[in-house]
Amino acid sequence: MYDIVIIGAGIAGSFIARELSRFKLKILIVDRQNDVGNETTEANSAIIHAGYDAMADQLKGKFNAPGNKMFDTICDELDVPFKRIGSLVLGFNEDDRKTIQNLYNNGLKNNVPDMRILEKDEILQMEPKLNEDVVCALYAPTAGIIGAWEFAIASVENAMDNGVELELETEVTGIEKENFGYRIYTNKGEKDTKYIINCAGVYADVINNMVTEPYFSITPRKGNYYVLDKGLDLVNHIIFLCPTDKGKGVIITPTVHGNILIGPDSEFVNDKDSTATDVSGLRYVKERALLSSKAIPFNKVIRTFAGLRAHSDRNDFIIEEAKGAKGFINVAGFESPGLSAIPAVAQYVVNIMQKLTGGLIYKDNFNPRRRKTVCFNLLSDEEKKDIIKKNPMYGNIICRCETVTEAEIVDAINRNCGARSVKAVKKRTRAGMGRCQGGFCSPRVMEILARELGKDWTDIPYDSTKSYILTEETKRNQQDNDSKMGG
Ligand SMILES: Cc1cc2nc3c(=O)[nH]c(=O)nc-3n(C[C@H](O)[C@H](O)[C@H](O)COP(=O)(O)OP(=O)(O)OC[C@H]3O[C@@H](n4cnc5c(N)ncnc54)[C@H](O)[C@@H]3O)c2cc1C
Repeated sequence: MYDIVIIGAGIAGSFIARELSRFKLKILIVDRQNDVGNETTEANSAIIHAGYDAMADQLKGKFNAPGNKMFDTICDELDVPFKRIGSLVLGFNEDDRKTIQNLYNNGLKNNVPDMRILEKDEILQMEPKLNEDVVCALYAPTAGIIGAWEFAIASVENAMDNGVELELETEVTGIEKENFGYRIYTNKGEKDTKYIINCAGVYADVINNMVTEPYFSITPRKGNYYVLDKGLDLVNHIIFLCPTDKGKGVIITPTVHGNILIGPDSEFVNDKDSTATDVSGLRYVKERALLSSKAIPFNKVIRTFAGLRAHSDRNDFIIEEAKGAKGFINVAGFESPGLSAIPAVAQYVVNIMQKLTGGLIYKDNFNPRRRKTVCFNLLSDEEKKDIIKKNPMYGNIICRCETVTEAEIVDAINRNCGARSVKAVKKRTRAGMGRCQGGFCSPRVMEILARELGKDWTDIPYDSTKSYILTEETKRNQQDNDSKMGG
């Protein structure tokens, strides 16, 4: 019997699990995917918003700025890439200036520190590649960029280091109320628990409806993106256009790893699993981005992707014990700024749990720090020499685009919350993230995965469960072939 089962290992479930692992609780996280952070958490702008746009009377407004403040400590503890590079919302006319003033005023209400409204000269000094017809901008220096999926993976790894259990490829198919709490039915059997925290992203309404009357709905809203190659000197800050009724609008931003990210658009879709990119969305993103900078080299695109916002009919986060289901907590409608708000949201959920349980007891031995990962690419020549001497696998480069070594991949597989697919290795080490997008290193990554996990190559998936790359042997060794041919 578990004290708490968390459904969903996106950033909501992952970070809430990490915060609850401070307490003496038996906790299980289940996710239908074969890796942590495989849905919305891996397909977003990865911005830690300053917190000026959501209204102060919304949960989004309440949790964004306080969450933002907590990222320096959290990312240091969890060894997650995070950079406070600041954001600019650009204005090109008098209507935009009014919008920017409103954002500034709202930011003051939300306690966003150090914002300023800048005029043309200062903006172009800070960002010379922006279009010269810019007239003003809201500057928010506390906005930052993060490795979004690294944040989820690190949170679960740290939670597991502190005793939390993780079961992947475990899809919740039904839930029944029992006198002890809940019985959860999954494709891998039943789980009994006193409390449930529902962090199922775009499926949070479906999970809610397994225990109580429907009282909210989630409609996915898709956003398409371009990823540009590294080494482009385009922008140094997160560049927004003024928001529209569809959201914060198209951005241009550096990523923590030195690429440029451009997107998203915003279109409602019916299918909760529809993450295919679409031409019209990408075309719209391109048109809008060119309003900020005509210098964008779209011939340097190395990848496109799309993510789904879990938009609720309340147009806000839903973080509460579900109506009519005692001990069942929804963390739903968790669209942007979910990533930015999650540290503060997790504290709020801990407070809900404190009240429901009558008080949680701290562990004496909680360790907030995750063992650091080595990024060979960032080491000095001296450090590289030393580390190869200690472990020769650091001398074997597997991904040439991103300079990722065999030792880093082996470590990524063998940690808590270790990689089990080619994409899981990519998310942890960046092998396959470069210009060739895994064309060179994927077979070598598969080989290492198969060796470390004691599996056959044909059992190694690309990303989702059963997305096998190899299905059967097509060539046998020469002897087999000769004998087959009667030779
Ligand atoms: C286009 C876009 C841009 C965004 N940009 C930003 C940004 O810049 N900054 C920011 O702060 N926020 C941003 N967001 C929002 C942010 O990405 C989300 O708030 C956050 O990732 C949501 O995390 P989650 O854990 O709630 O959902 P998810 O990451 O989707 O996780 C839900 C998990 O539940 C699992 N699940 C679902 N059903 C079941 C089931 N039946 N059984 C078991 N498991 C199940 C899924 O497999 C999934 O892993 C953006 C979102 C989008 C789509």
